[in-house]
Amino acid sequence: MGQPKLASNTLDKNDLIVVAGAGGFIAGALTKRFQDQGFTRIRAVDRKPLTEWYRRTPGVECLTMDLSEPANCVRACEGAAEVYCLAADMGGMGFIERFRIECLRSVLVNTHMVEAAWRAGAQRYFFSSSACAYNTKLQQTTDSRPLKESDAYPAFAERGYGWEKLFSEMVCQEYWAERGFRTQIARFHNVYGPWGTWDGGREKAPAALSRKVIEAKDKGQKWIEVWGDGSQARSYMLVDDVIEGIDRITHCDELTATPINLGSAELLSVNELLDHIEAVAGVKLERRYKLDAPKGVVGRNSDNTMIRQVLGWEPSIPFKQGIKPTYEWIEKQYFARKSGQRPVA
Ligand code: NAD
Repeated sequence: MGQPKLASNTLDKNDLIVVAGAGGFIAGALTKRFQDQGFTRIRAVDRKPLTEWYRRTPGVECLTMDLSEPANCVRACEGAAEVYCLAADMGGMGFIERFRIECLRSVLVNTHMVEAAWRAGAQRYFFSSSACAYNTKLQQTTDSRPLKESDAYPAFAERGYGWEKLFSEMVCQEYWAERGFRTQIARFHNVYGPWGTWDGGREKAPAALSRKVIEAKDKGQKWIEVWGDGSQARSYMLVDDVIEGIDRITHCDELTATPINLGSAELLSVNELLDHIEAVAGVKLERRYKLDAPKGVVGRNSDNTMIRQVLGWEPSIPFKQGIKPTYEWIEKQYFARKSGQRPVA
């Protein structure tokens, strides 16, 4: 890999950073990162009540507001130097295949946030897109070639969620083209890690399978239900990598208004995912495949040629390494909840 370009972050440590969706998984971790970097003014916004935020970073201004409302976006972006928009109604396949309207309505969040950020005079705007924006026809076999950035067009995105991302990308691109507002766009592939959704219907495969293994162990059950036939293939990126990537992509001028993959290139089938989780848990369970469950595209991986070329960096934490702390965190949450305690951090 070439020299990492830790681009031109010209912010002063007292400049205001706004993080939308901060009660959620990735934006919660991003908020913490900015504080660790020494930023003193961070505004975290989410529509969930504060008690439901996965993670709250002490010393950060936290606002509960629905960012699909334009006036709330204006309030959220007031005085901002940088705005990170990660608020979206989303979840794993079980959620995005069932609630397409909710997913599509996230278009309101980005549309109003980018306008409010521009009006507030922010220097940069980051939008979290998704690999679901890619043409699904290119993802119909387990050995589909990894997706490169140009594969989004001709468009045939995931219904609902994927089309919302594709349209929102275009909104961001036009703010740069017409108004010179610096927008940065990353297409995340699956992200996992501690402080993420692990129960309730929005969780993704690594968290869902971890929880099922923990439950089976706890109940002395010898089997586990797996959605699909176990062959569906994806890549999974630890949250630490996505946070690092967001920072690098946001501050790279060469990438302005240019959607780029942010994903691991380590392709794993659901069966392999489960092998790793069982190894951490120290169990082996019988797999009962639920063939009519939502499973999404058959195979999807990230082609990281562009990110390597431009940033000299790519997400590289192996799943085997990242799943251990994730599993342990979910296990802690599971037993805390079982004993009637509030979830623990
Ligand atoms: P998350 O569900 O944990 O967090 C999203 C947060 O946005 C939630 O806390 C939710 O309450 C908030 N939100 C939703 N609508 C809102 C609104 N109208 N106003 C204010 N807040 C609102 O999801 P995440 O995994 O942290 O994802 C963050 C971003 O990354 C999203 O844009 C998502 O589409 C994108 N993404 C995530 C993944 C992944 O694997 N987690 C993959 C691809 C893209």
